[in-house]
Amino acid sequence: MNALGHIKPPILRMHGVTRAYPMGNTEVLALKGVSLDIFPSEMTAIIGRSGSGKTTLLNILAGLDHPTSGEVWFKDQRVDLLNESDLLRLRQEHFGFVFQSFGLLPLLSAAENIGIPLRIRQLAREEREYRVQEALEWVGLTGRSKHRPYEMSGGEQQRIALARALAGQPELILADEPTGQLDSHIGQQIIDLLRRIVRERQMTVVVITHDPQVIAEADTIHELRDGALIDPQKVYS
Ligand code: ADP
Ligand code: MG
Repeated sequence: MNALGHIKPPILRMHGVTRAYPMGNTEVLALKGVSLDIFPSEMTAIIGRSGSGKTTLLNILAGLDHPTSGEVWFKDQRVDLLNESDLLRLRQEHFGFVFQSFGLLPLLSAAENIGIPLRIRQLAREEREYRVQEALEWVGLTGRSKHRPYEMSGGEQQRIALARALAGQPELILADEPTGQLDSHIGQQIIDLLRRIVRERQMTVVVITHDPQVIAEADTIHELRDGALIDPQKVYS
């Protein structure tokens, strides 16, 4: 066990990451030298005001965006040096995503939405059907498999989005404000599921949030202010 009480080495790390976005003749520095370790089988919350760089940080951790400088590691692999096709494979095989706006395809049923990434990965039909069923059961929505997104509540749509992430059997779930569009009691169901994912499936969850309910459930909290992480002792001050 290290000084911070973590038993295993980090699964995901960033070191000295900056991200500059061009803005006319100048640039916006969305991240200003962020170093961060994400530990496995934990729920890590990343908090901060709007515009503080949270989405930029998550996207860089997930290989959806490239740092301007610095390093990103997934286990012993340099994520920031991978080409686009290797990044795609890394995301497909190891990461699951959940977004504030659910991101379901409107014309497809819940089961089809869950199965799409598995089709893209060309998994065999039996394997796909098994995983879709298992994921639906896990989020408690077996009875909604044929429903389209507009036939479900927001909370149900987000549970389907979570099922889609789970069906990929990722090591990490990355969630950007997953309860942001939900009433607090419905949001709590999503938080409970994220917690169970960590406890029962030993997955790692990274969640960006403003939601005090999520923050209360997190094992580790990092706060971004204006593109920089603040000292853990000063979080909430
Ligand atoms: P948060 O998720 O905490 O609200 P973001 O990571 O979305 O913050 O944004 C951080 C900063 O970077 C903001 O000032 C935002 O305007 C800027 N930014 C984010 N994405 C882009 C982009 N694609 N082009 C230019 N500026 C961006
Ligand atoms: Mg954001």
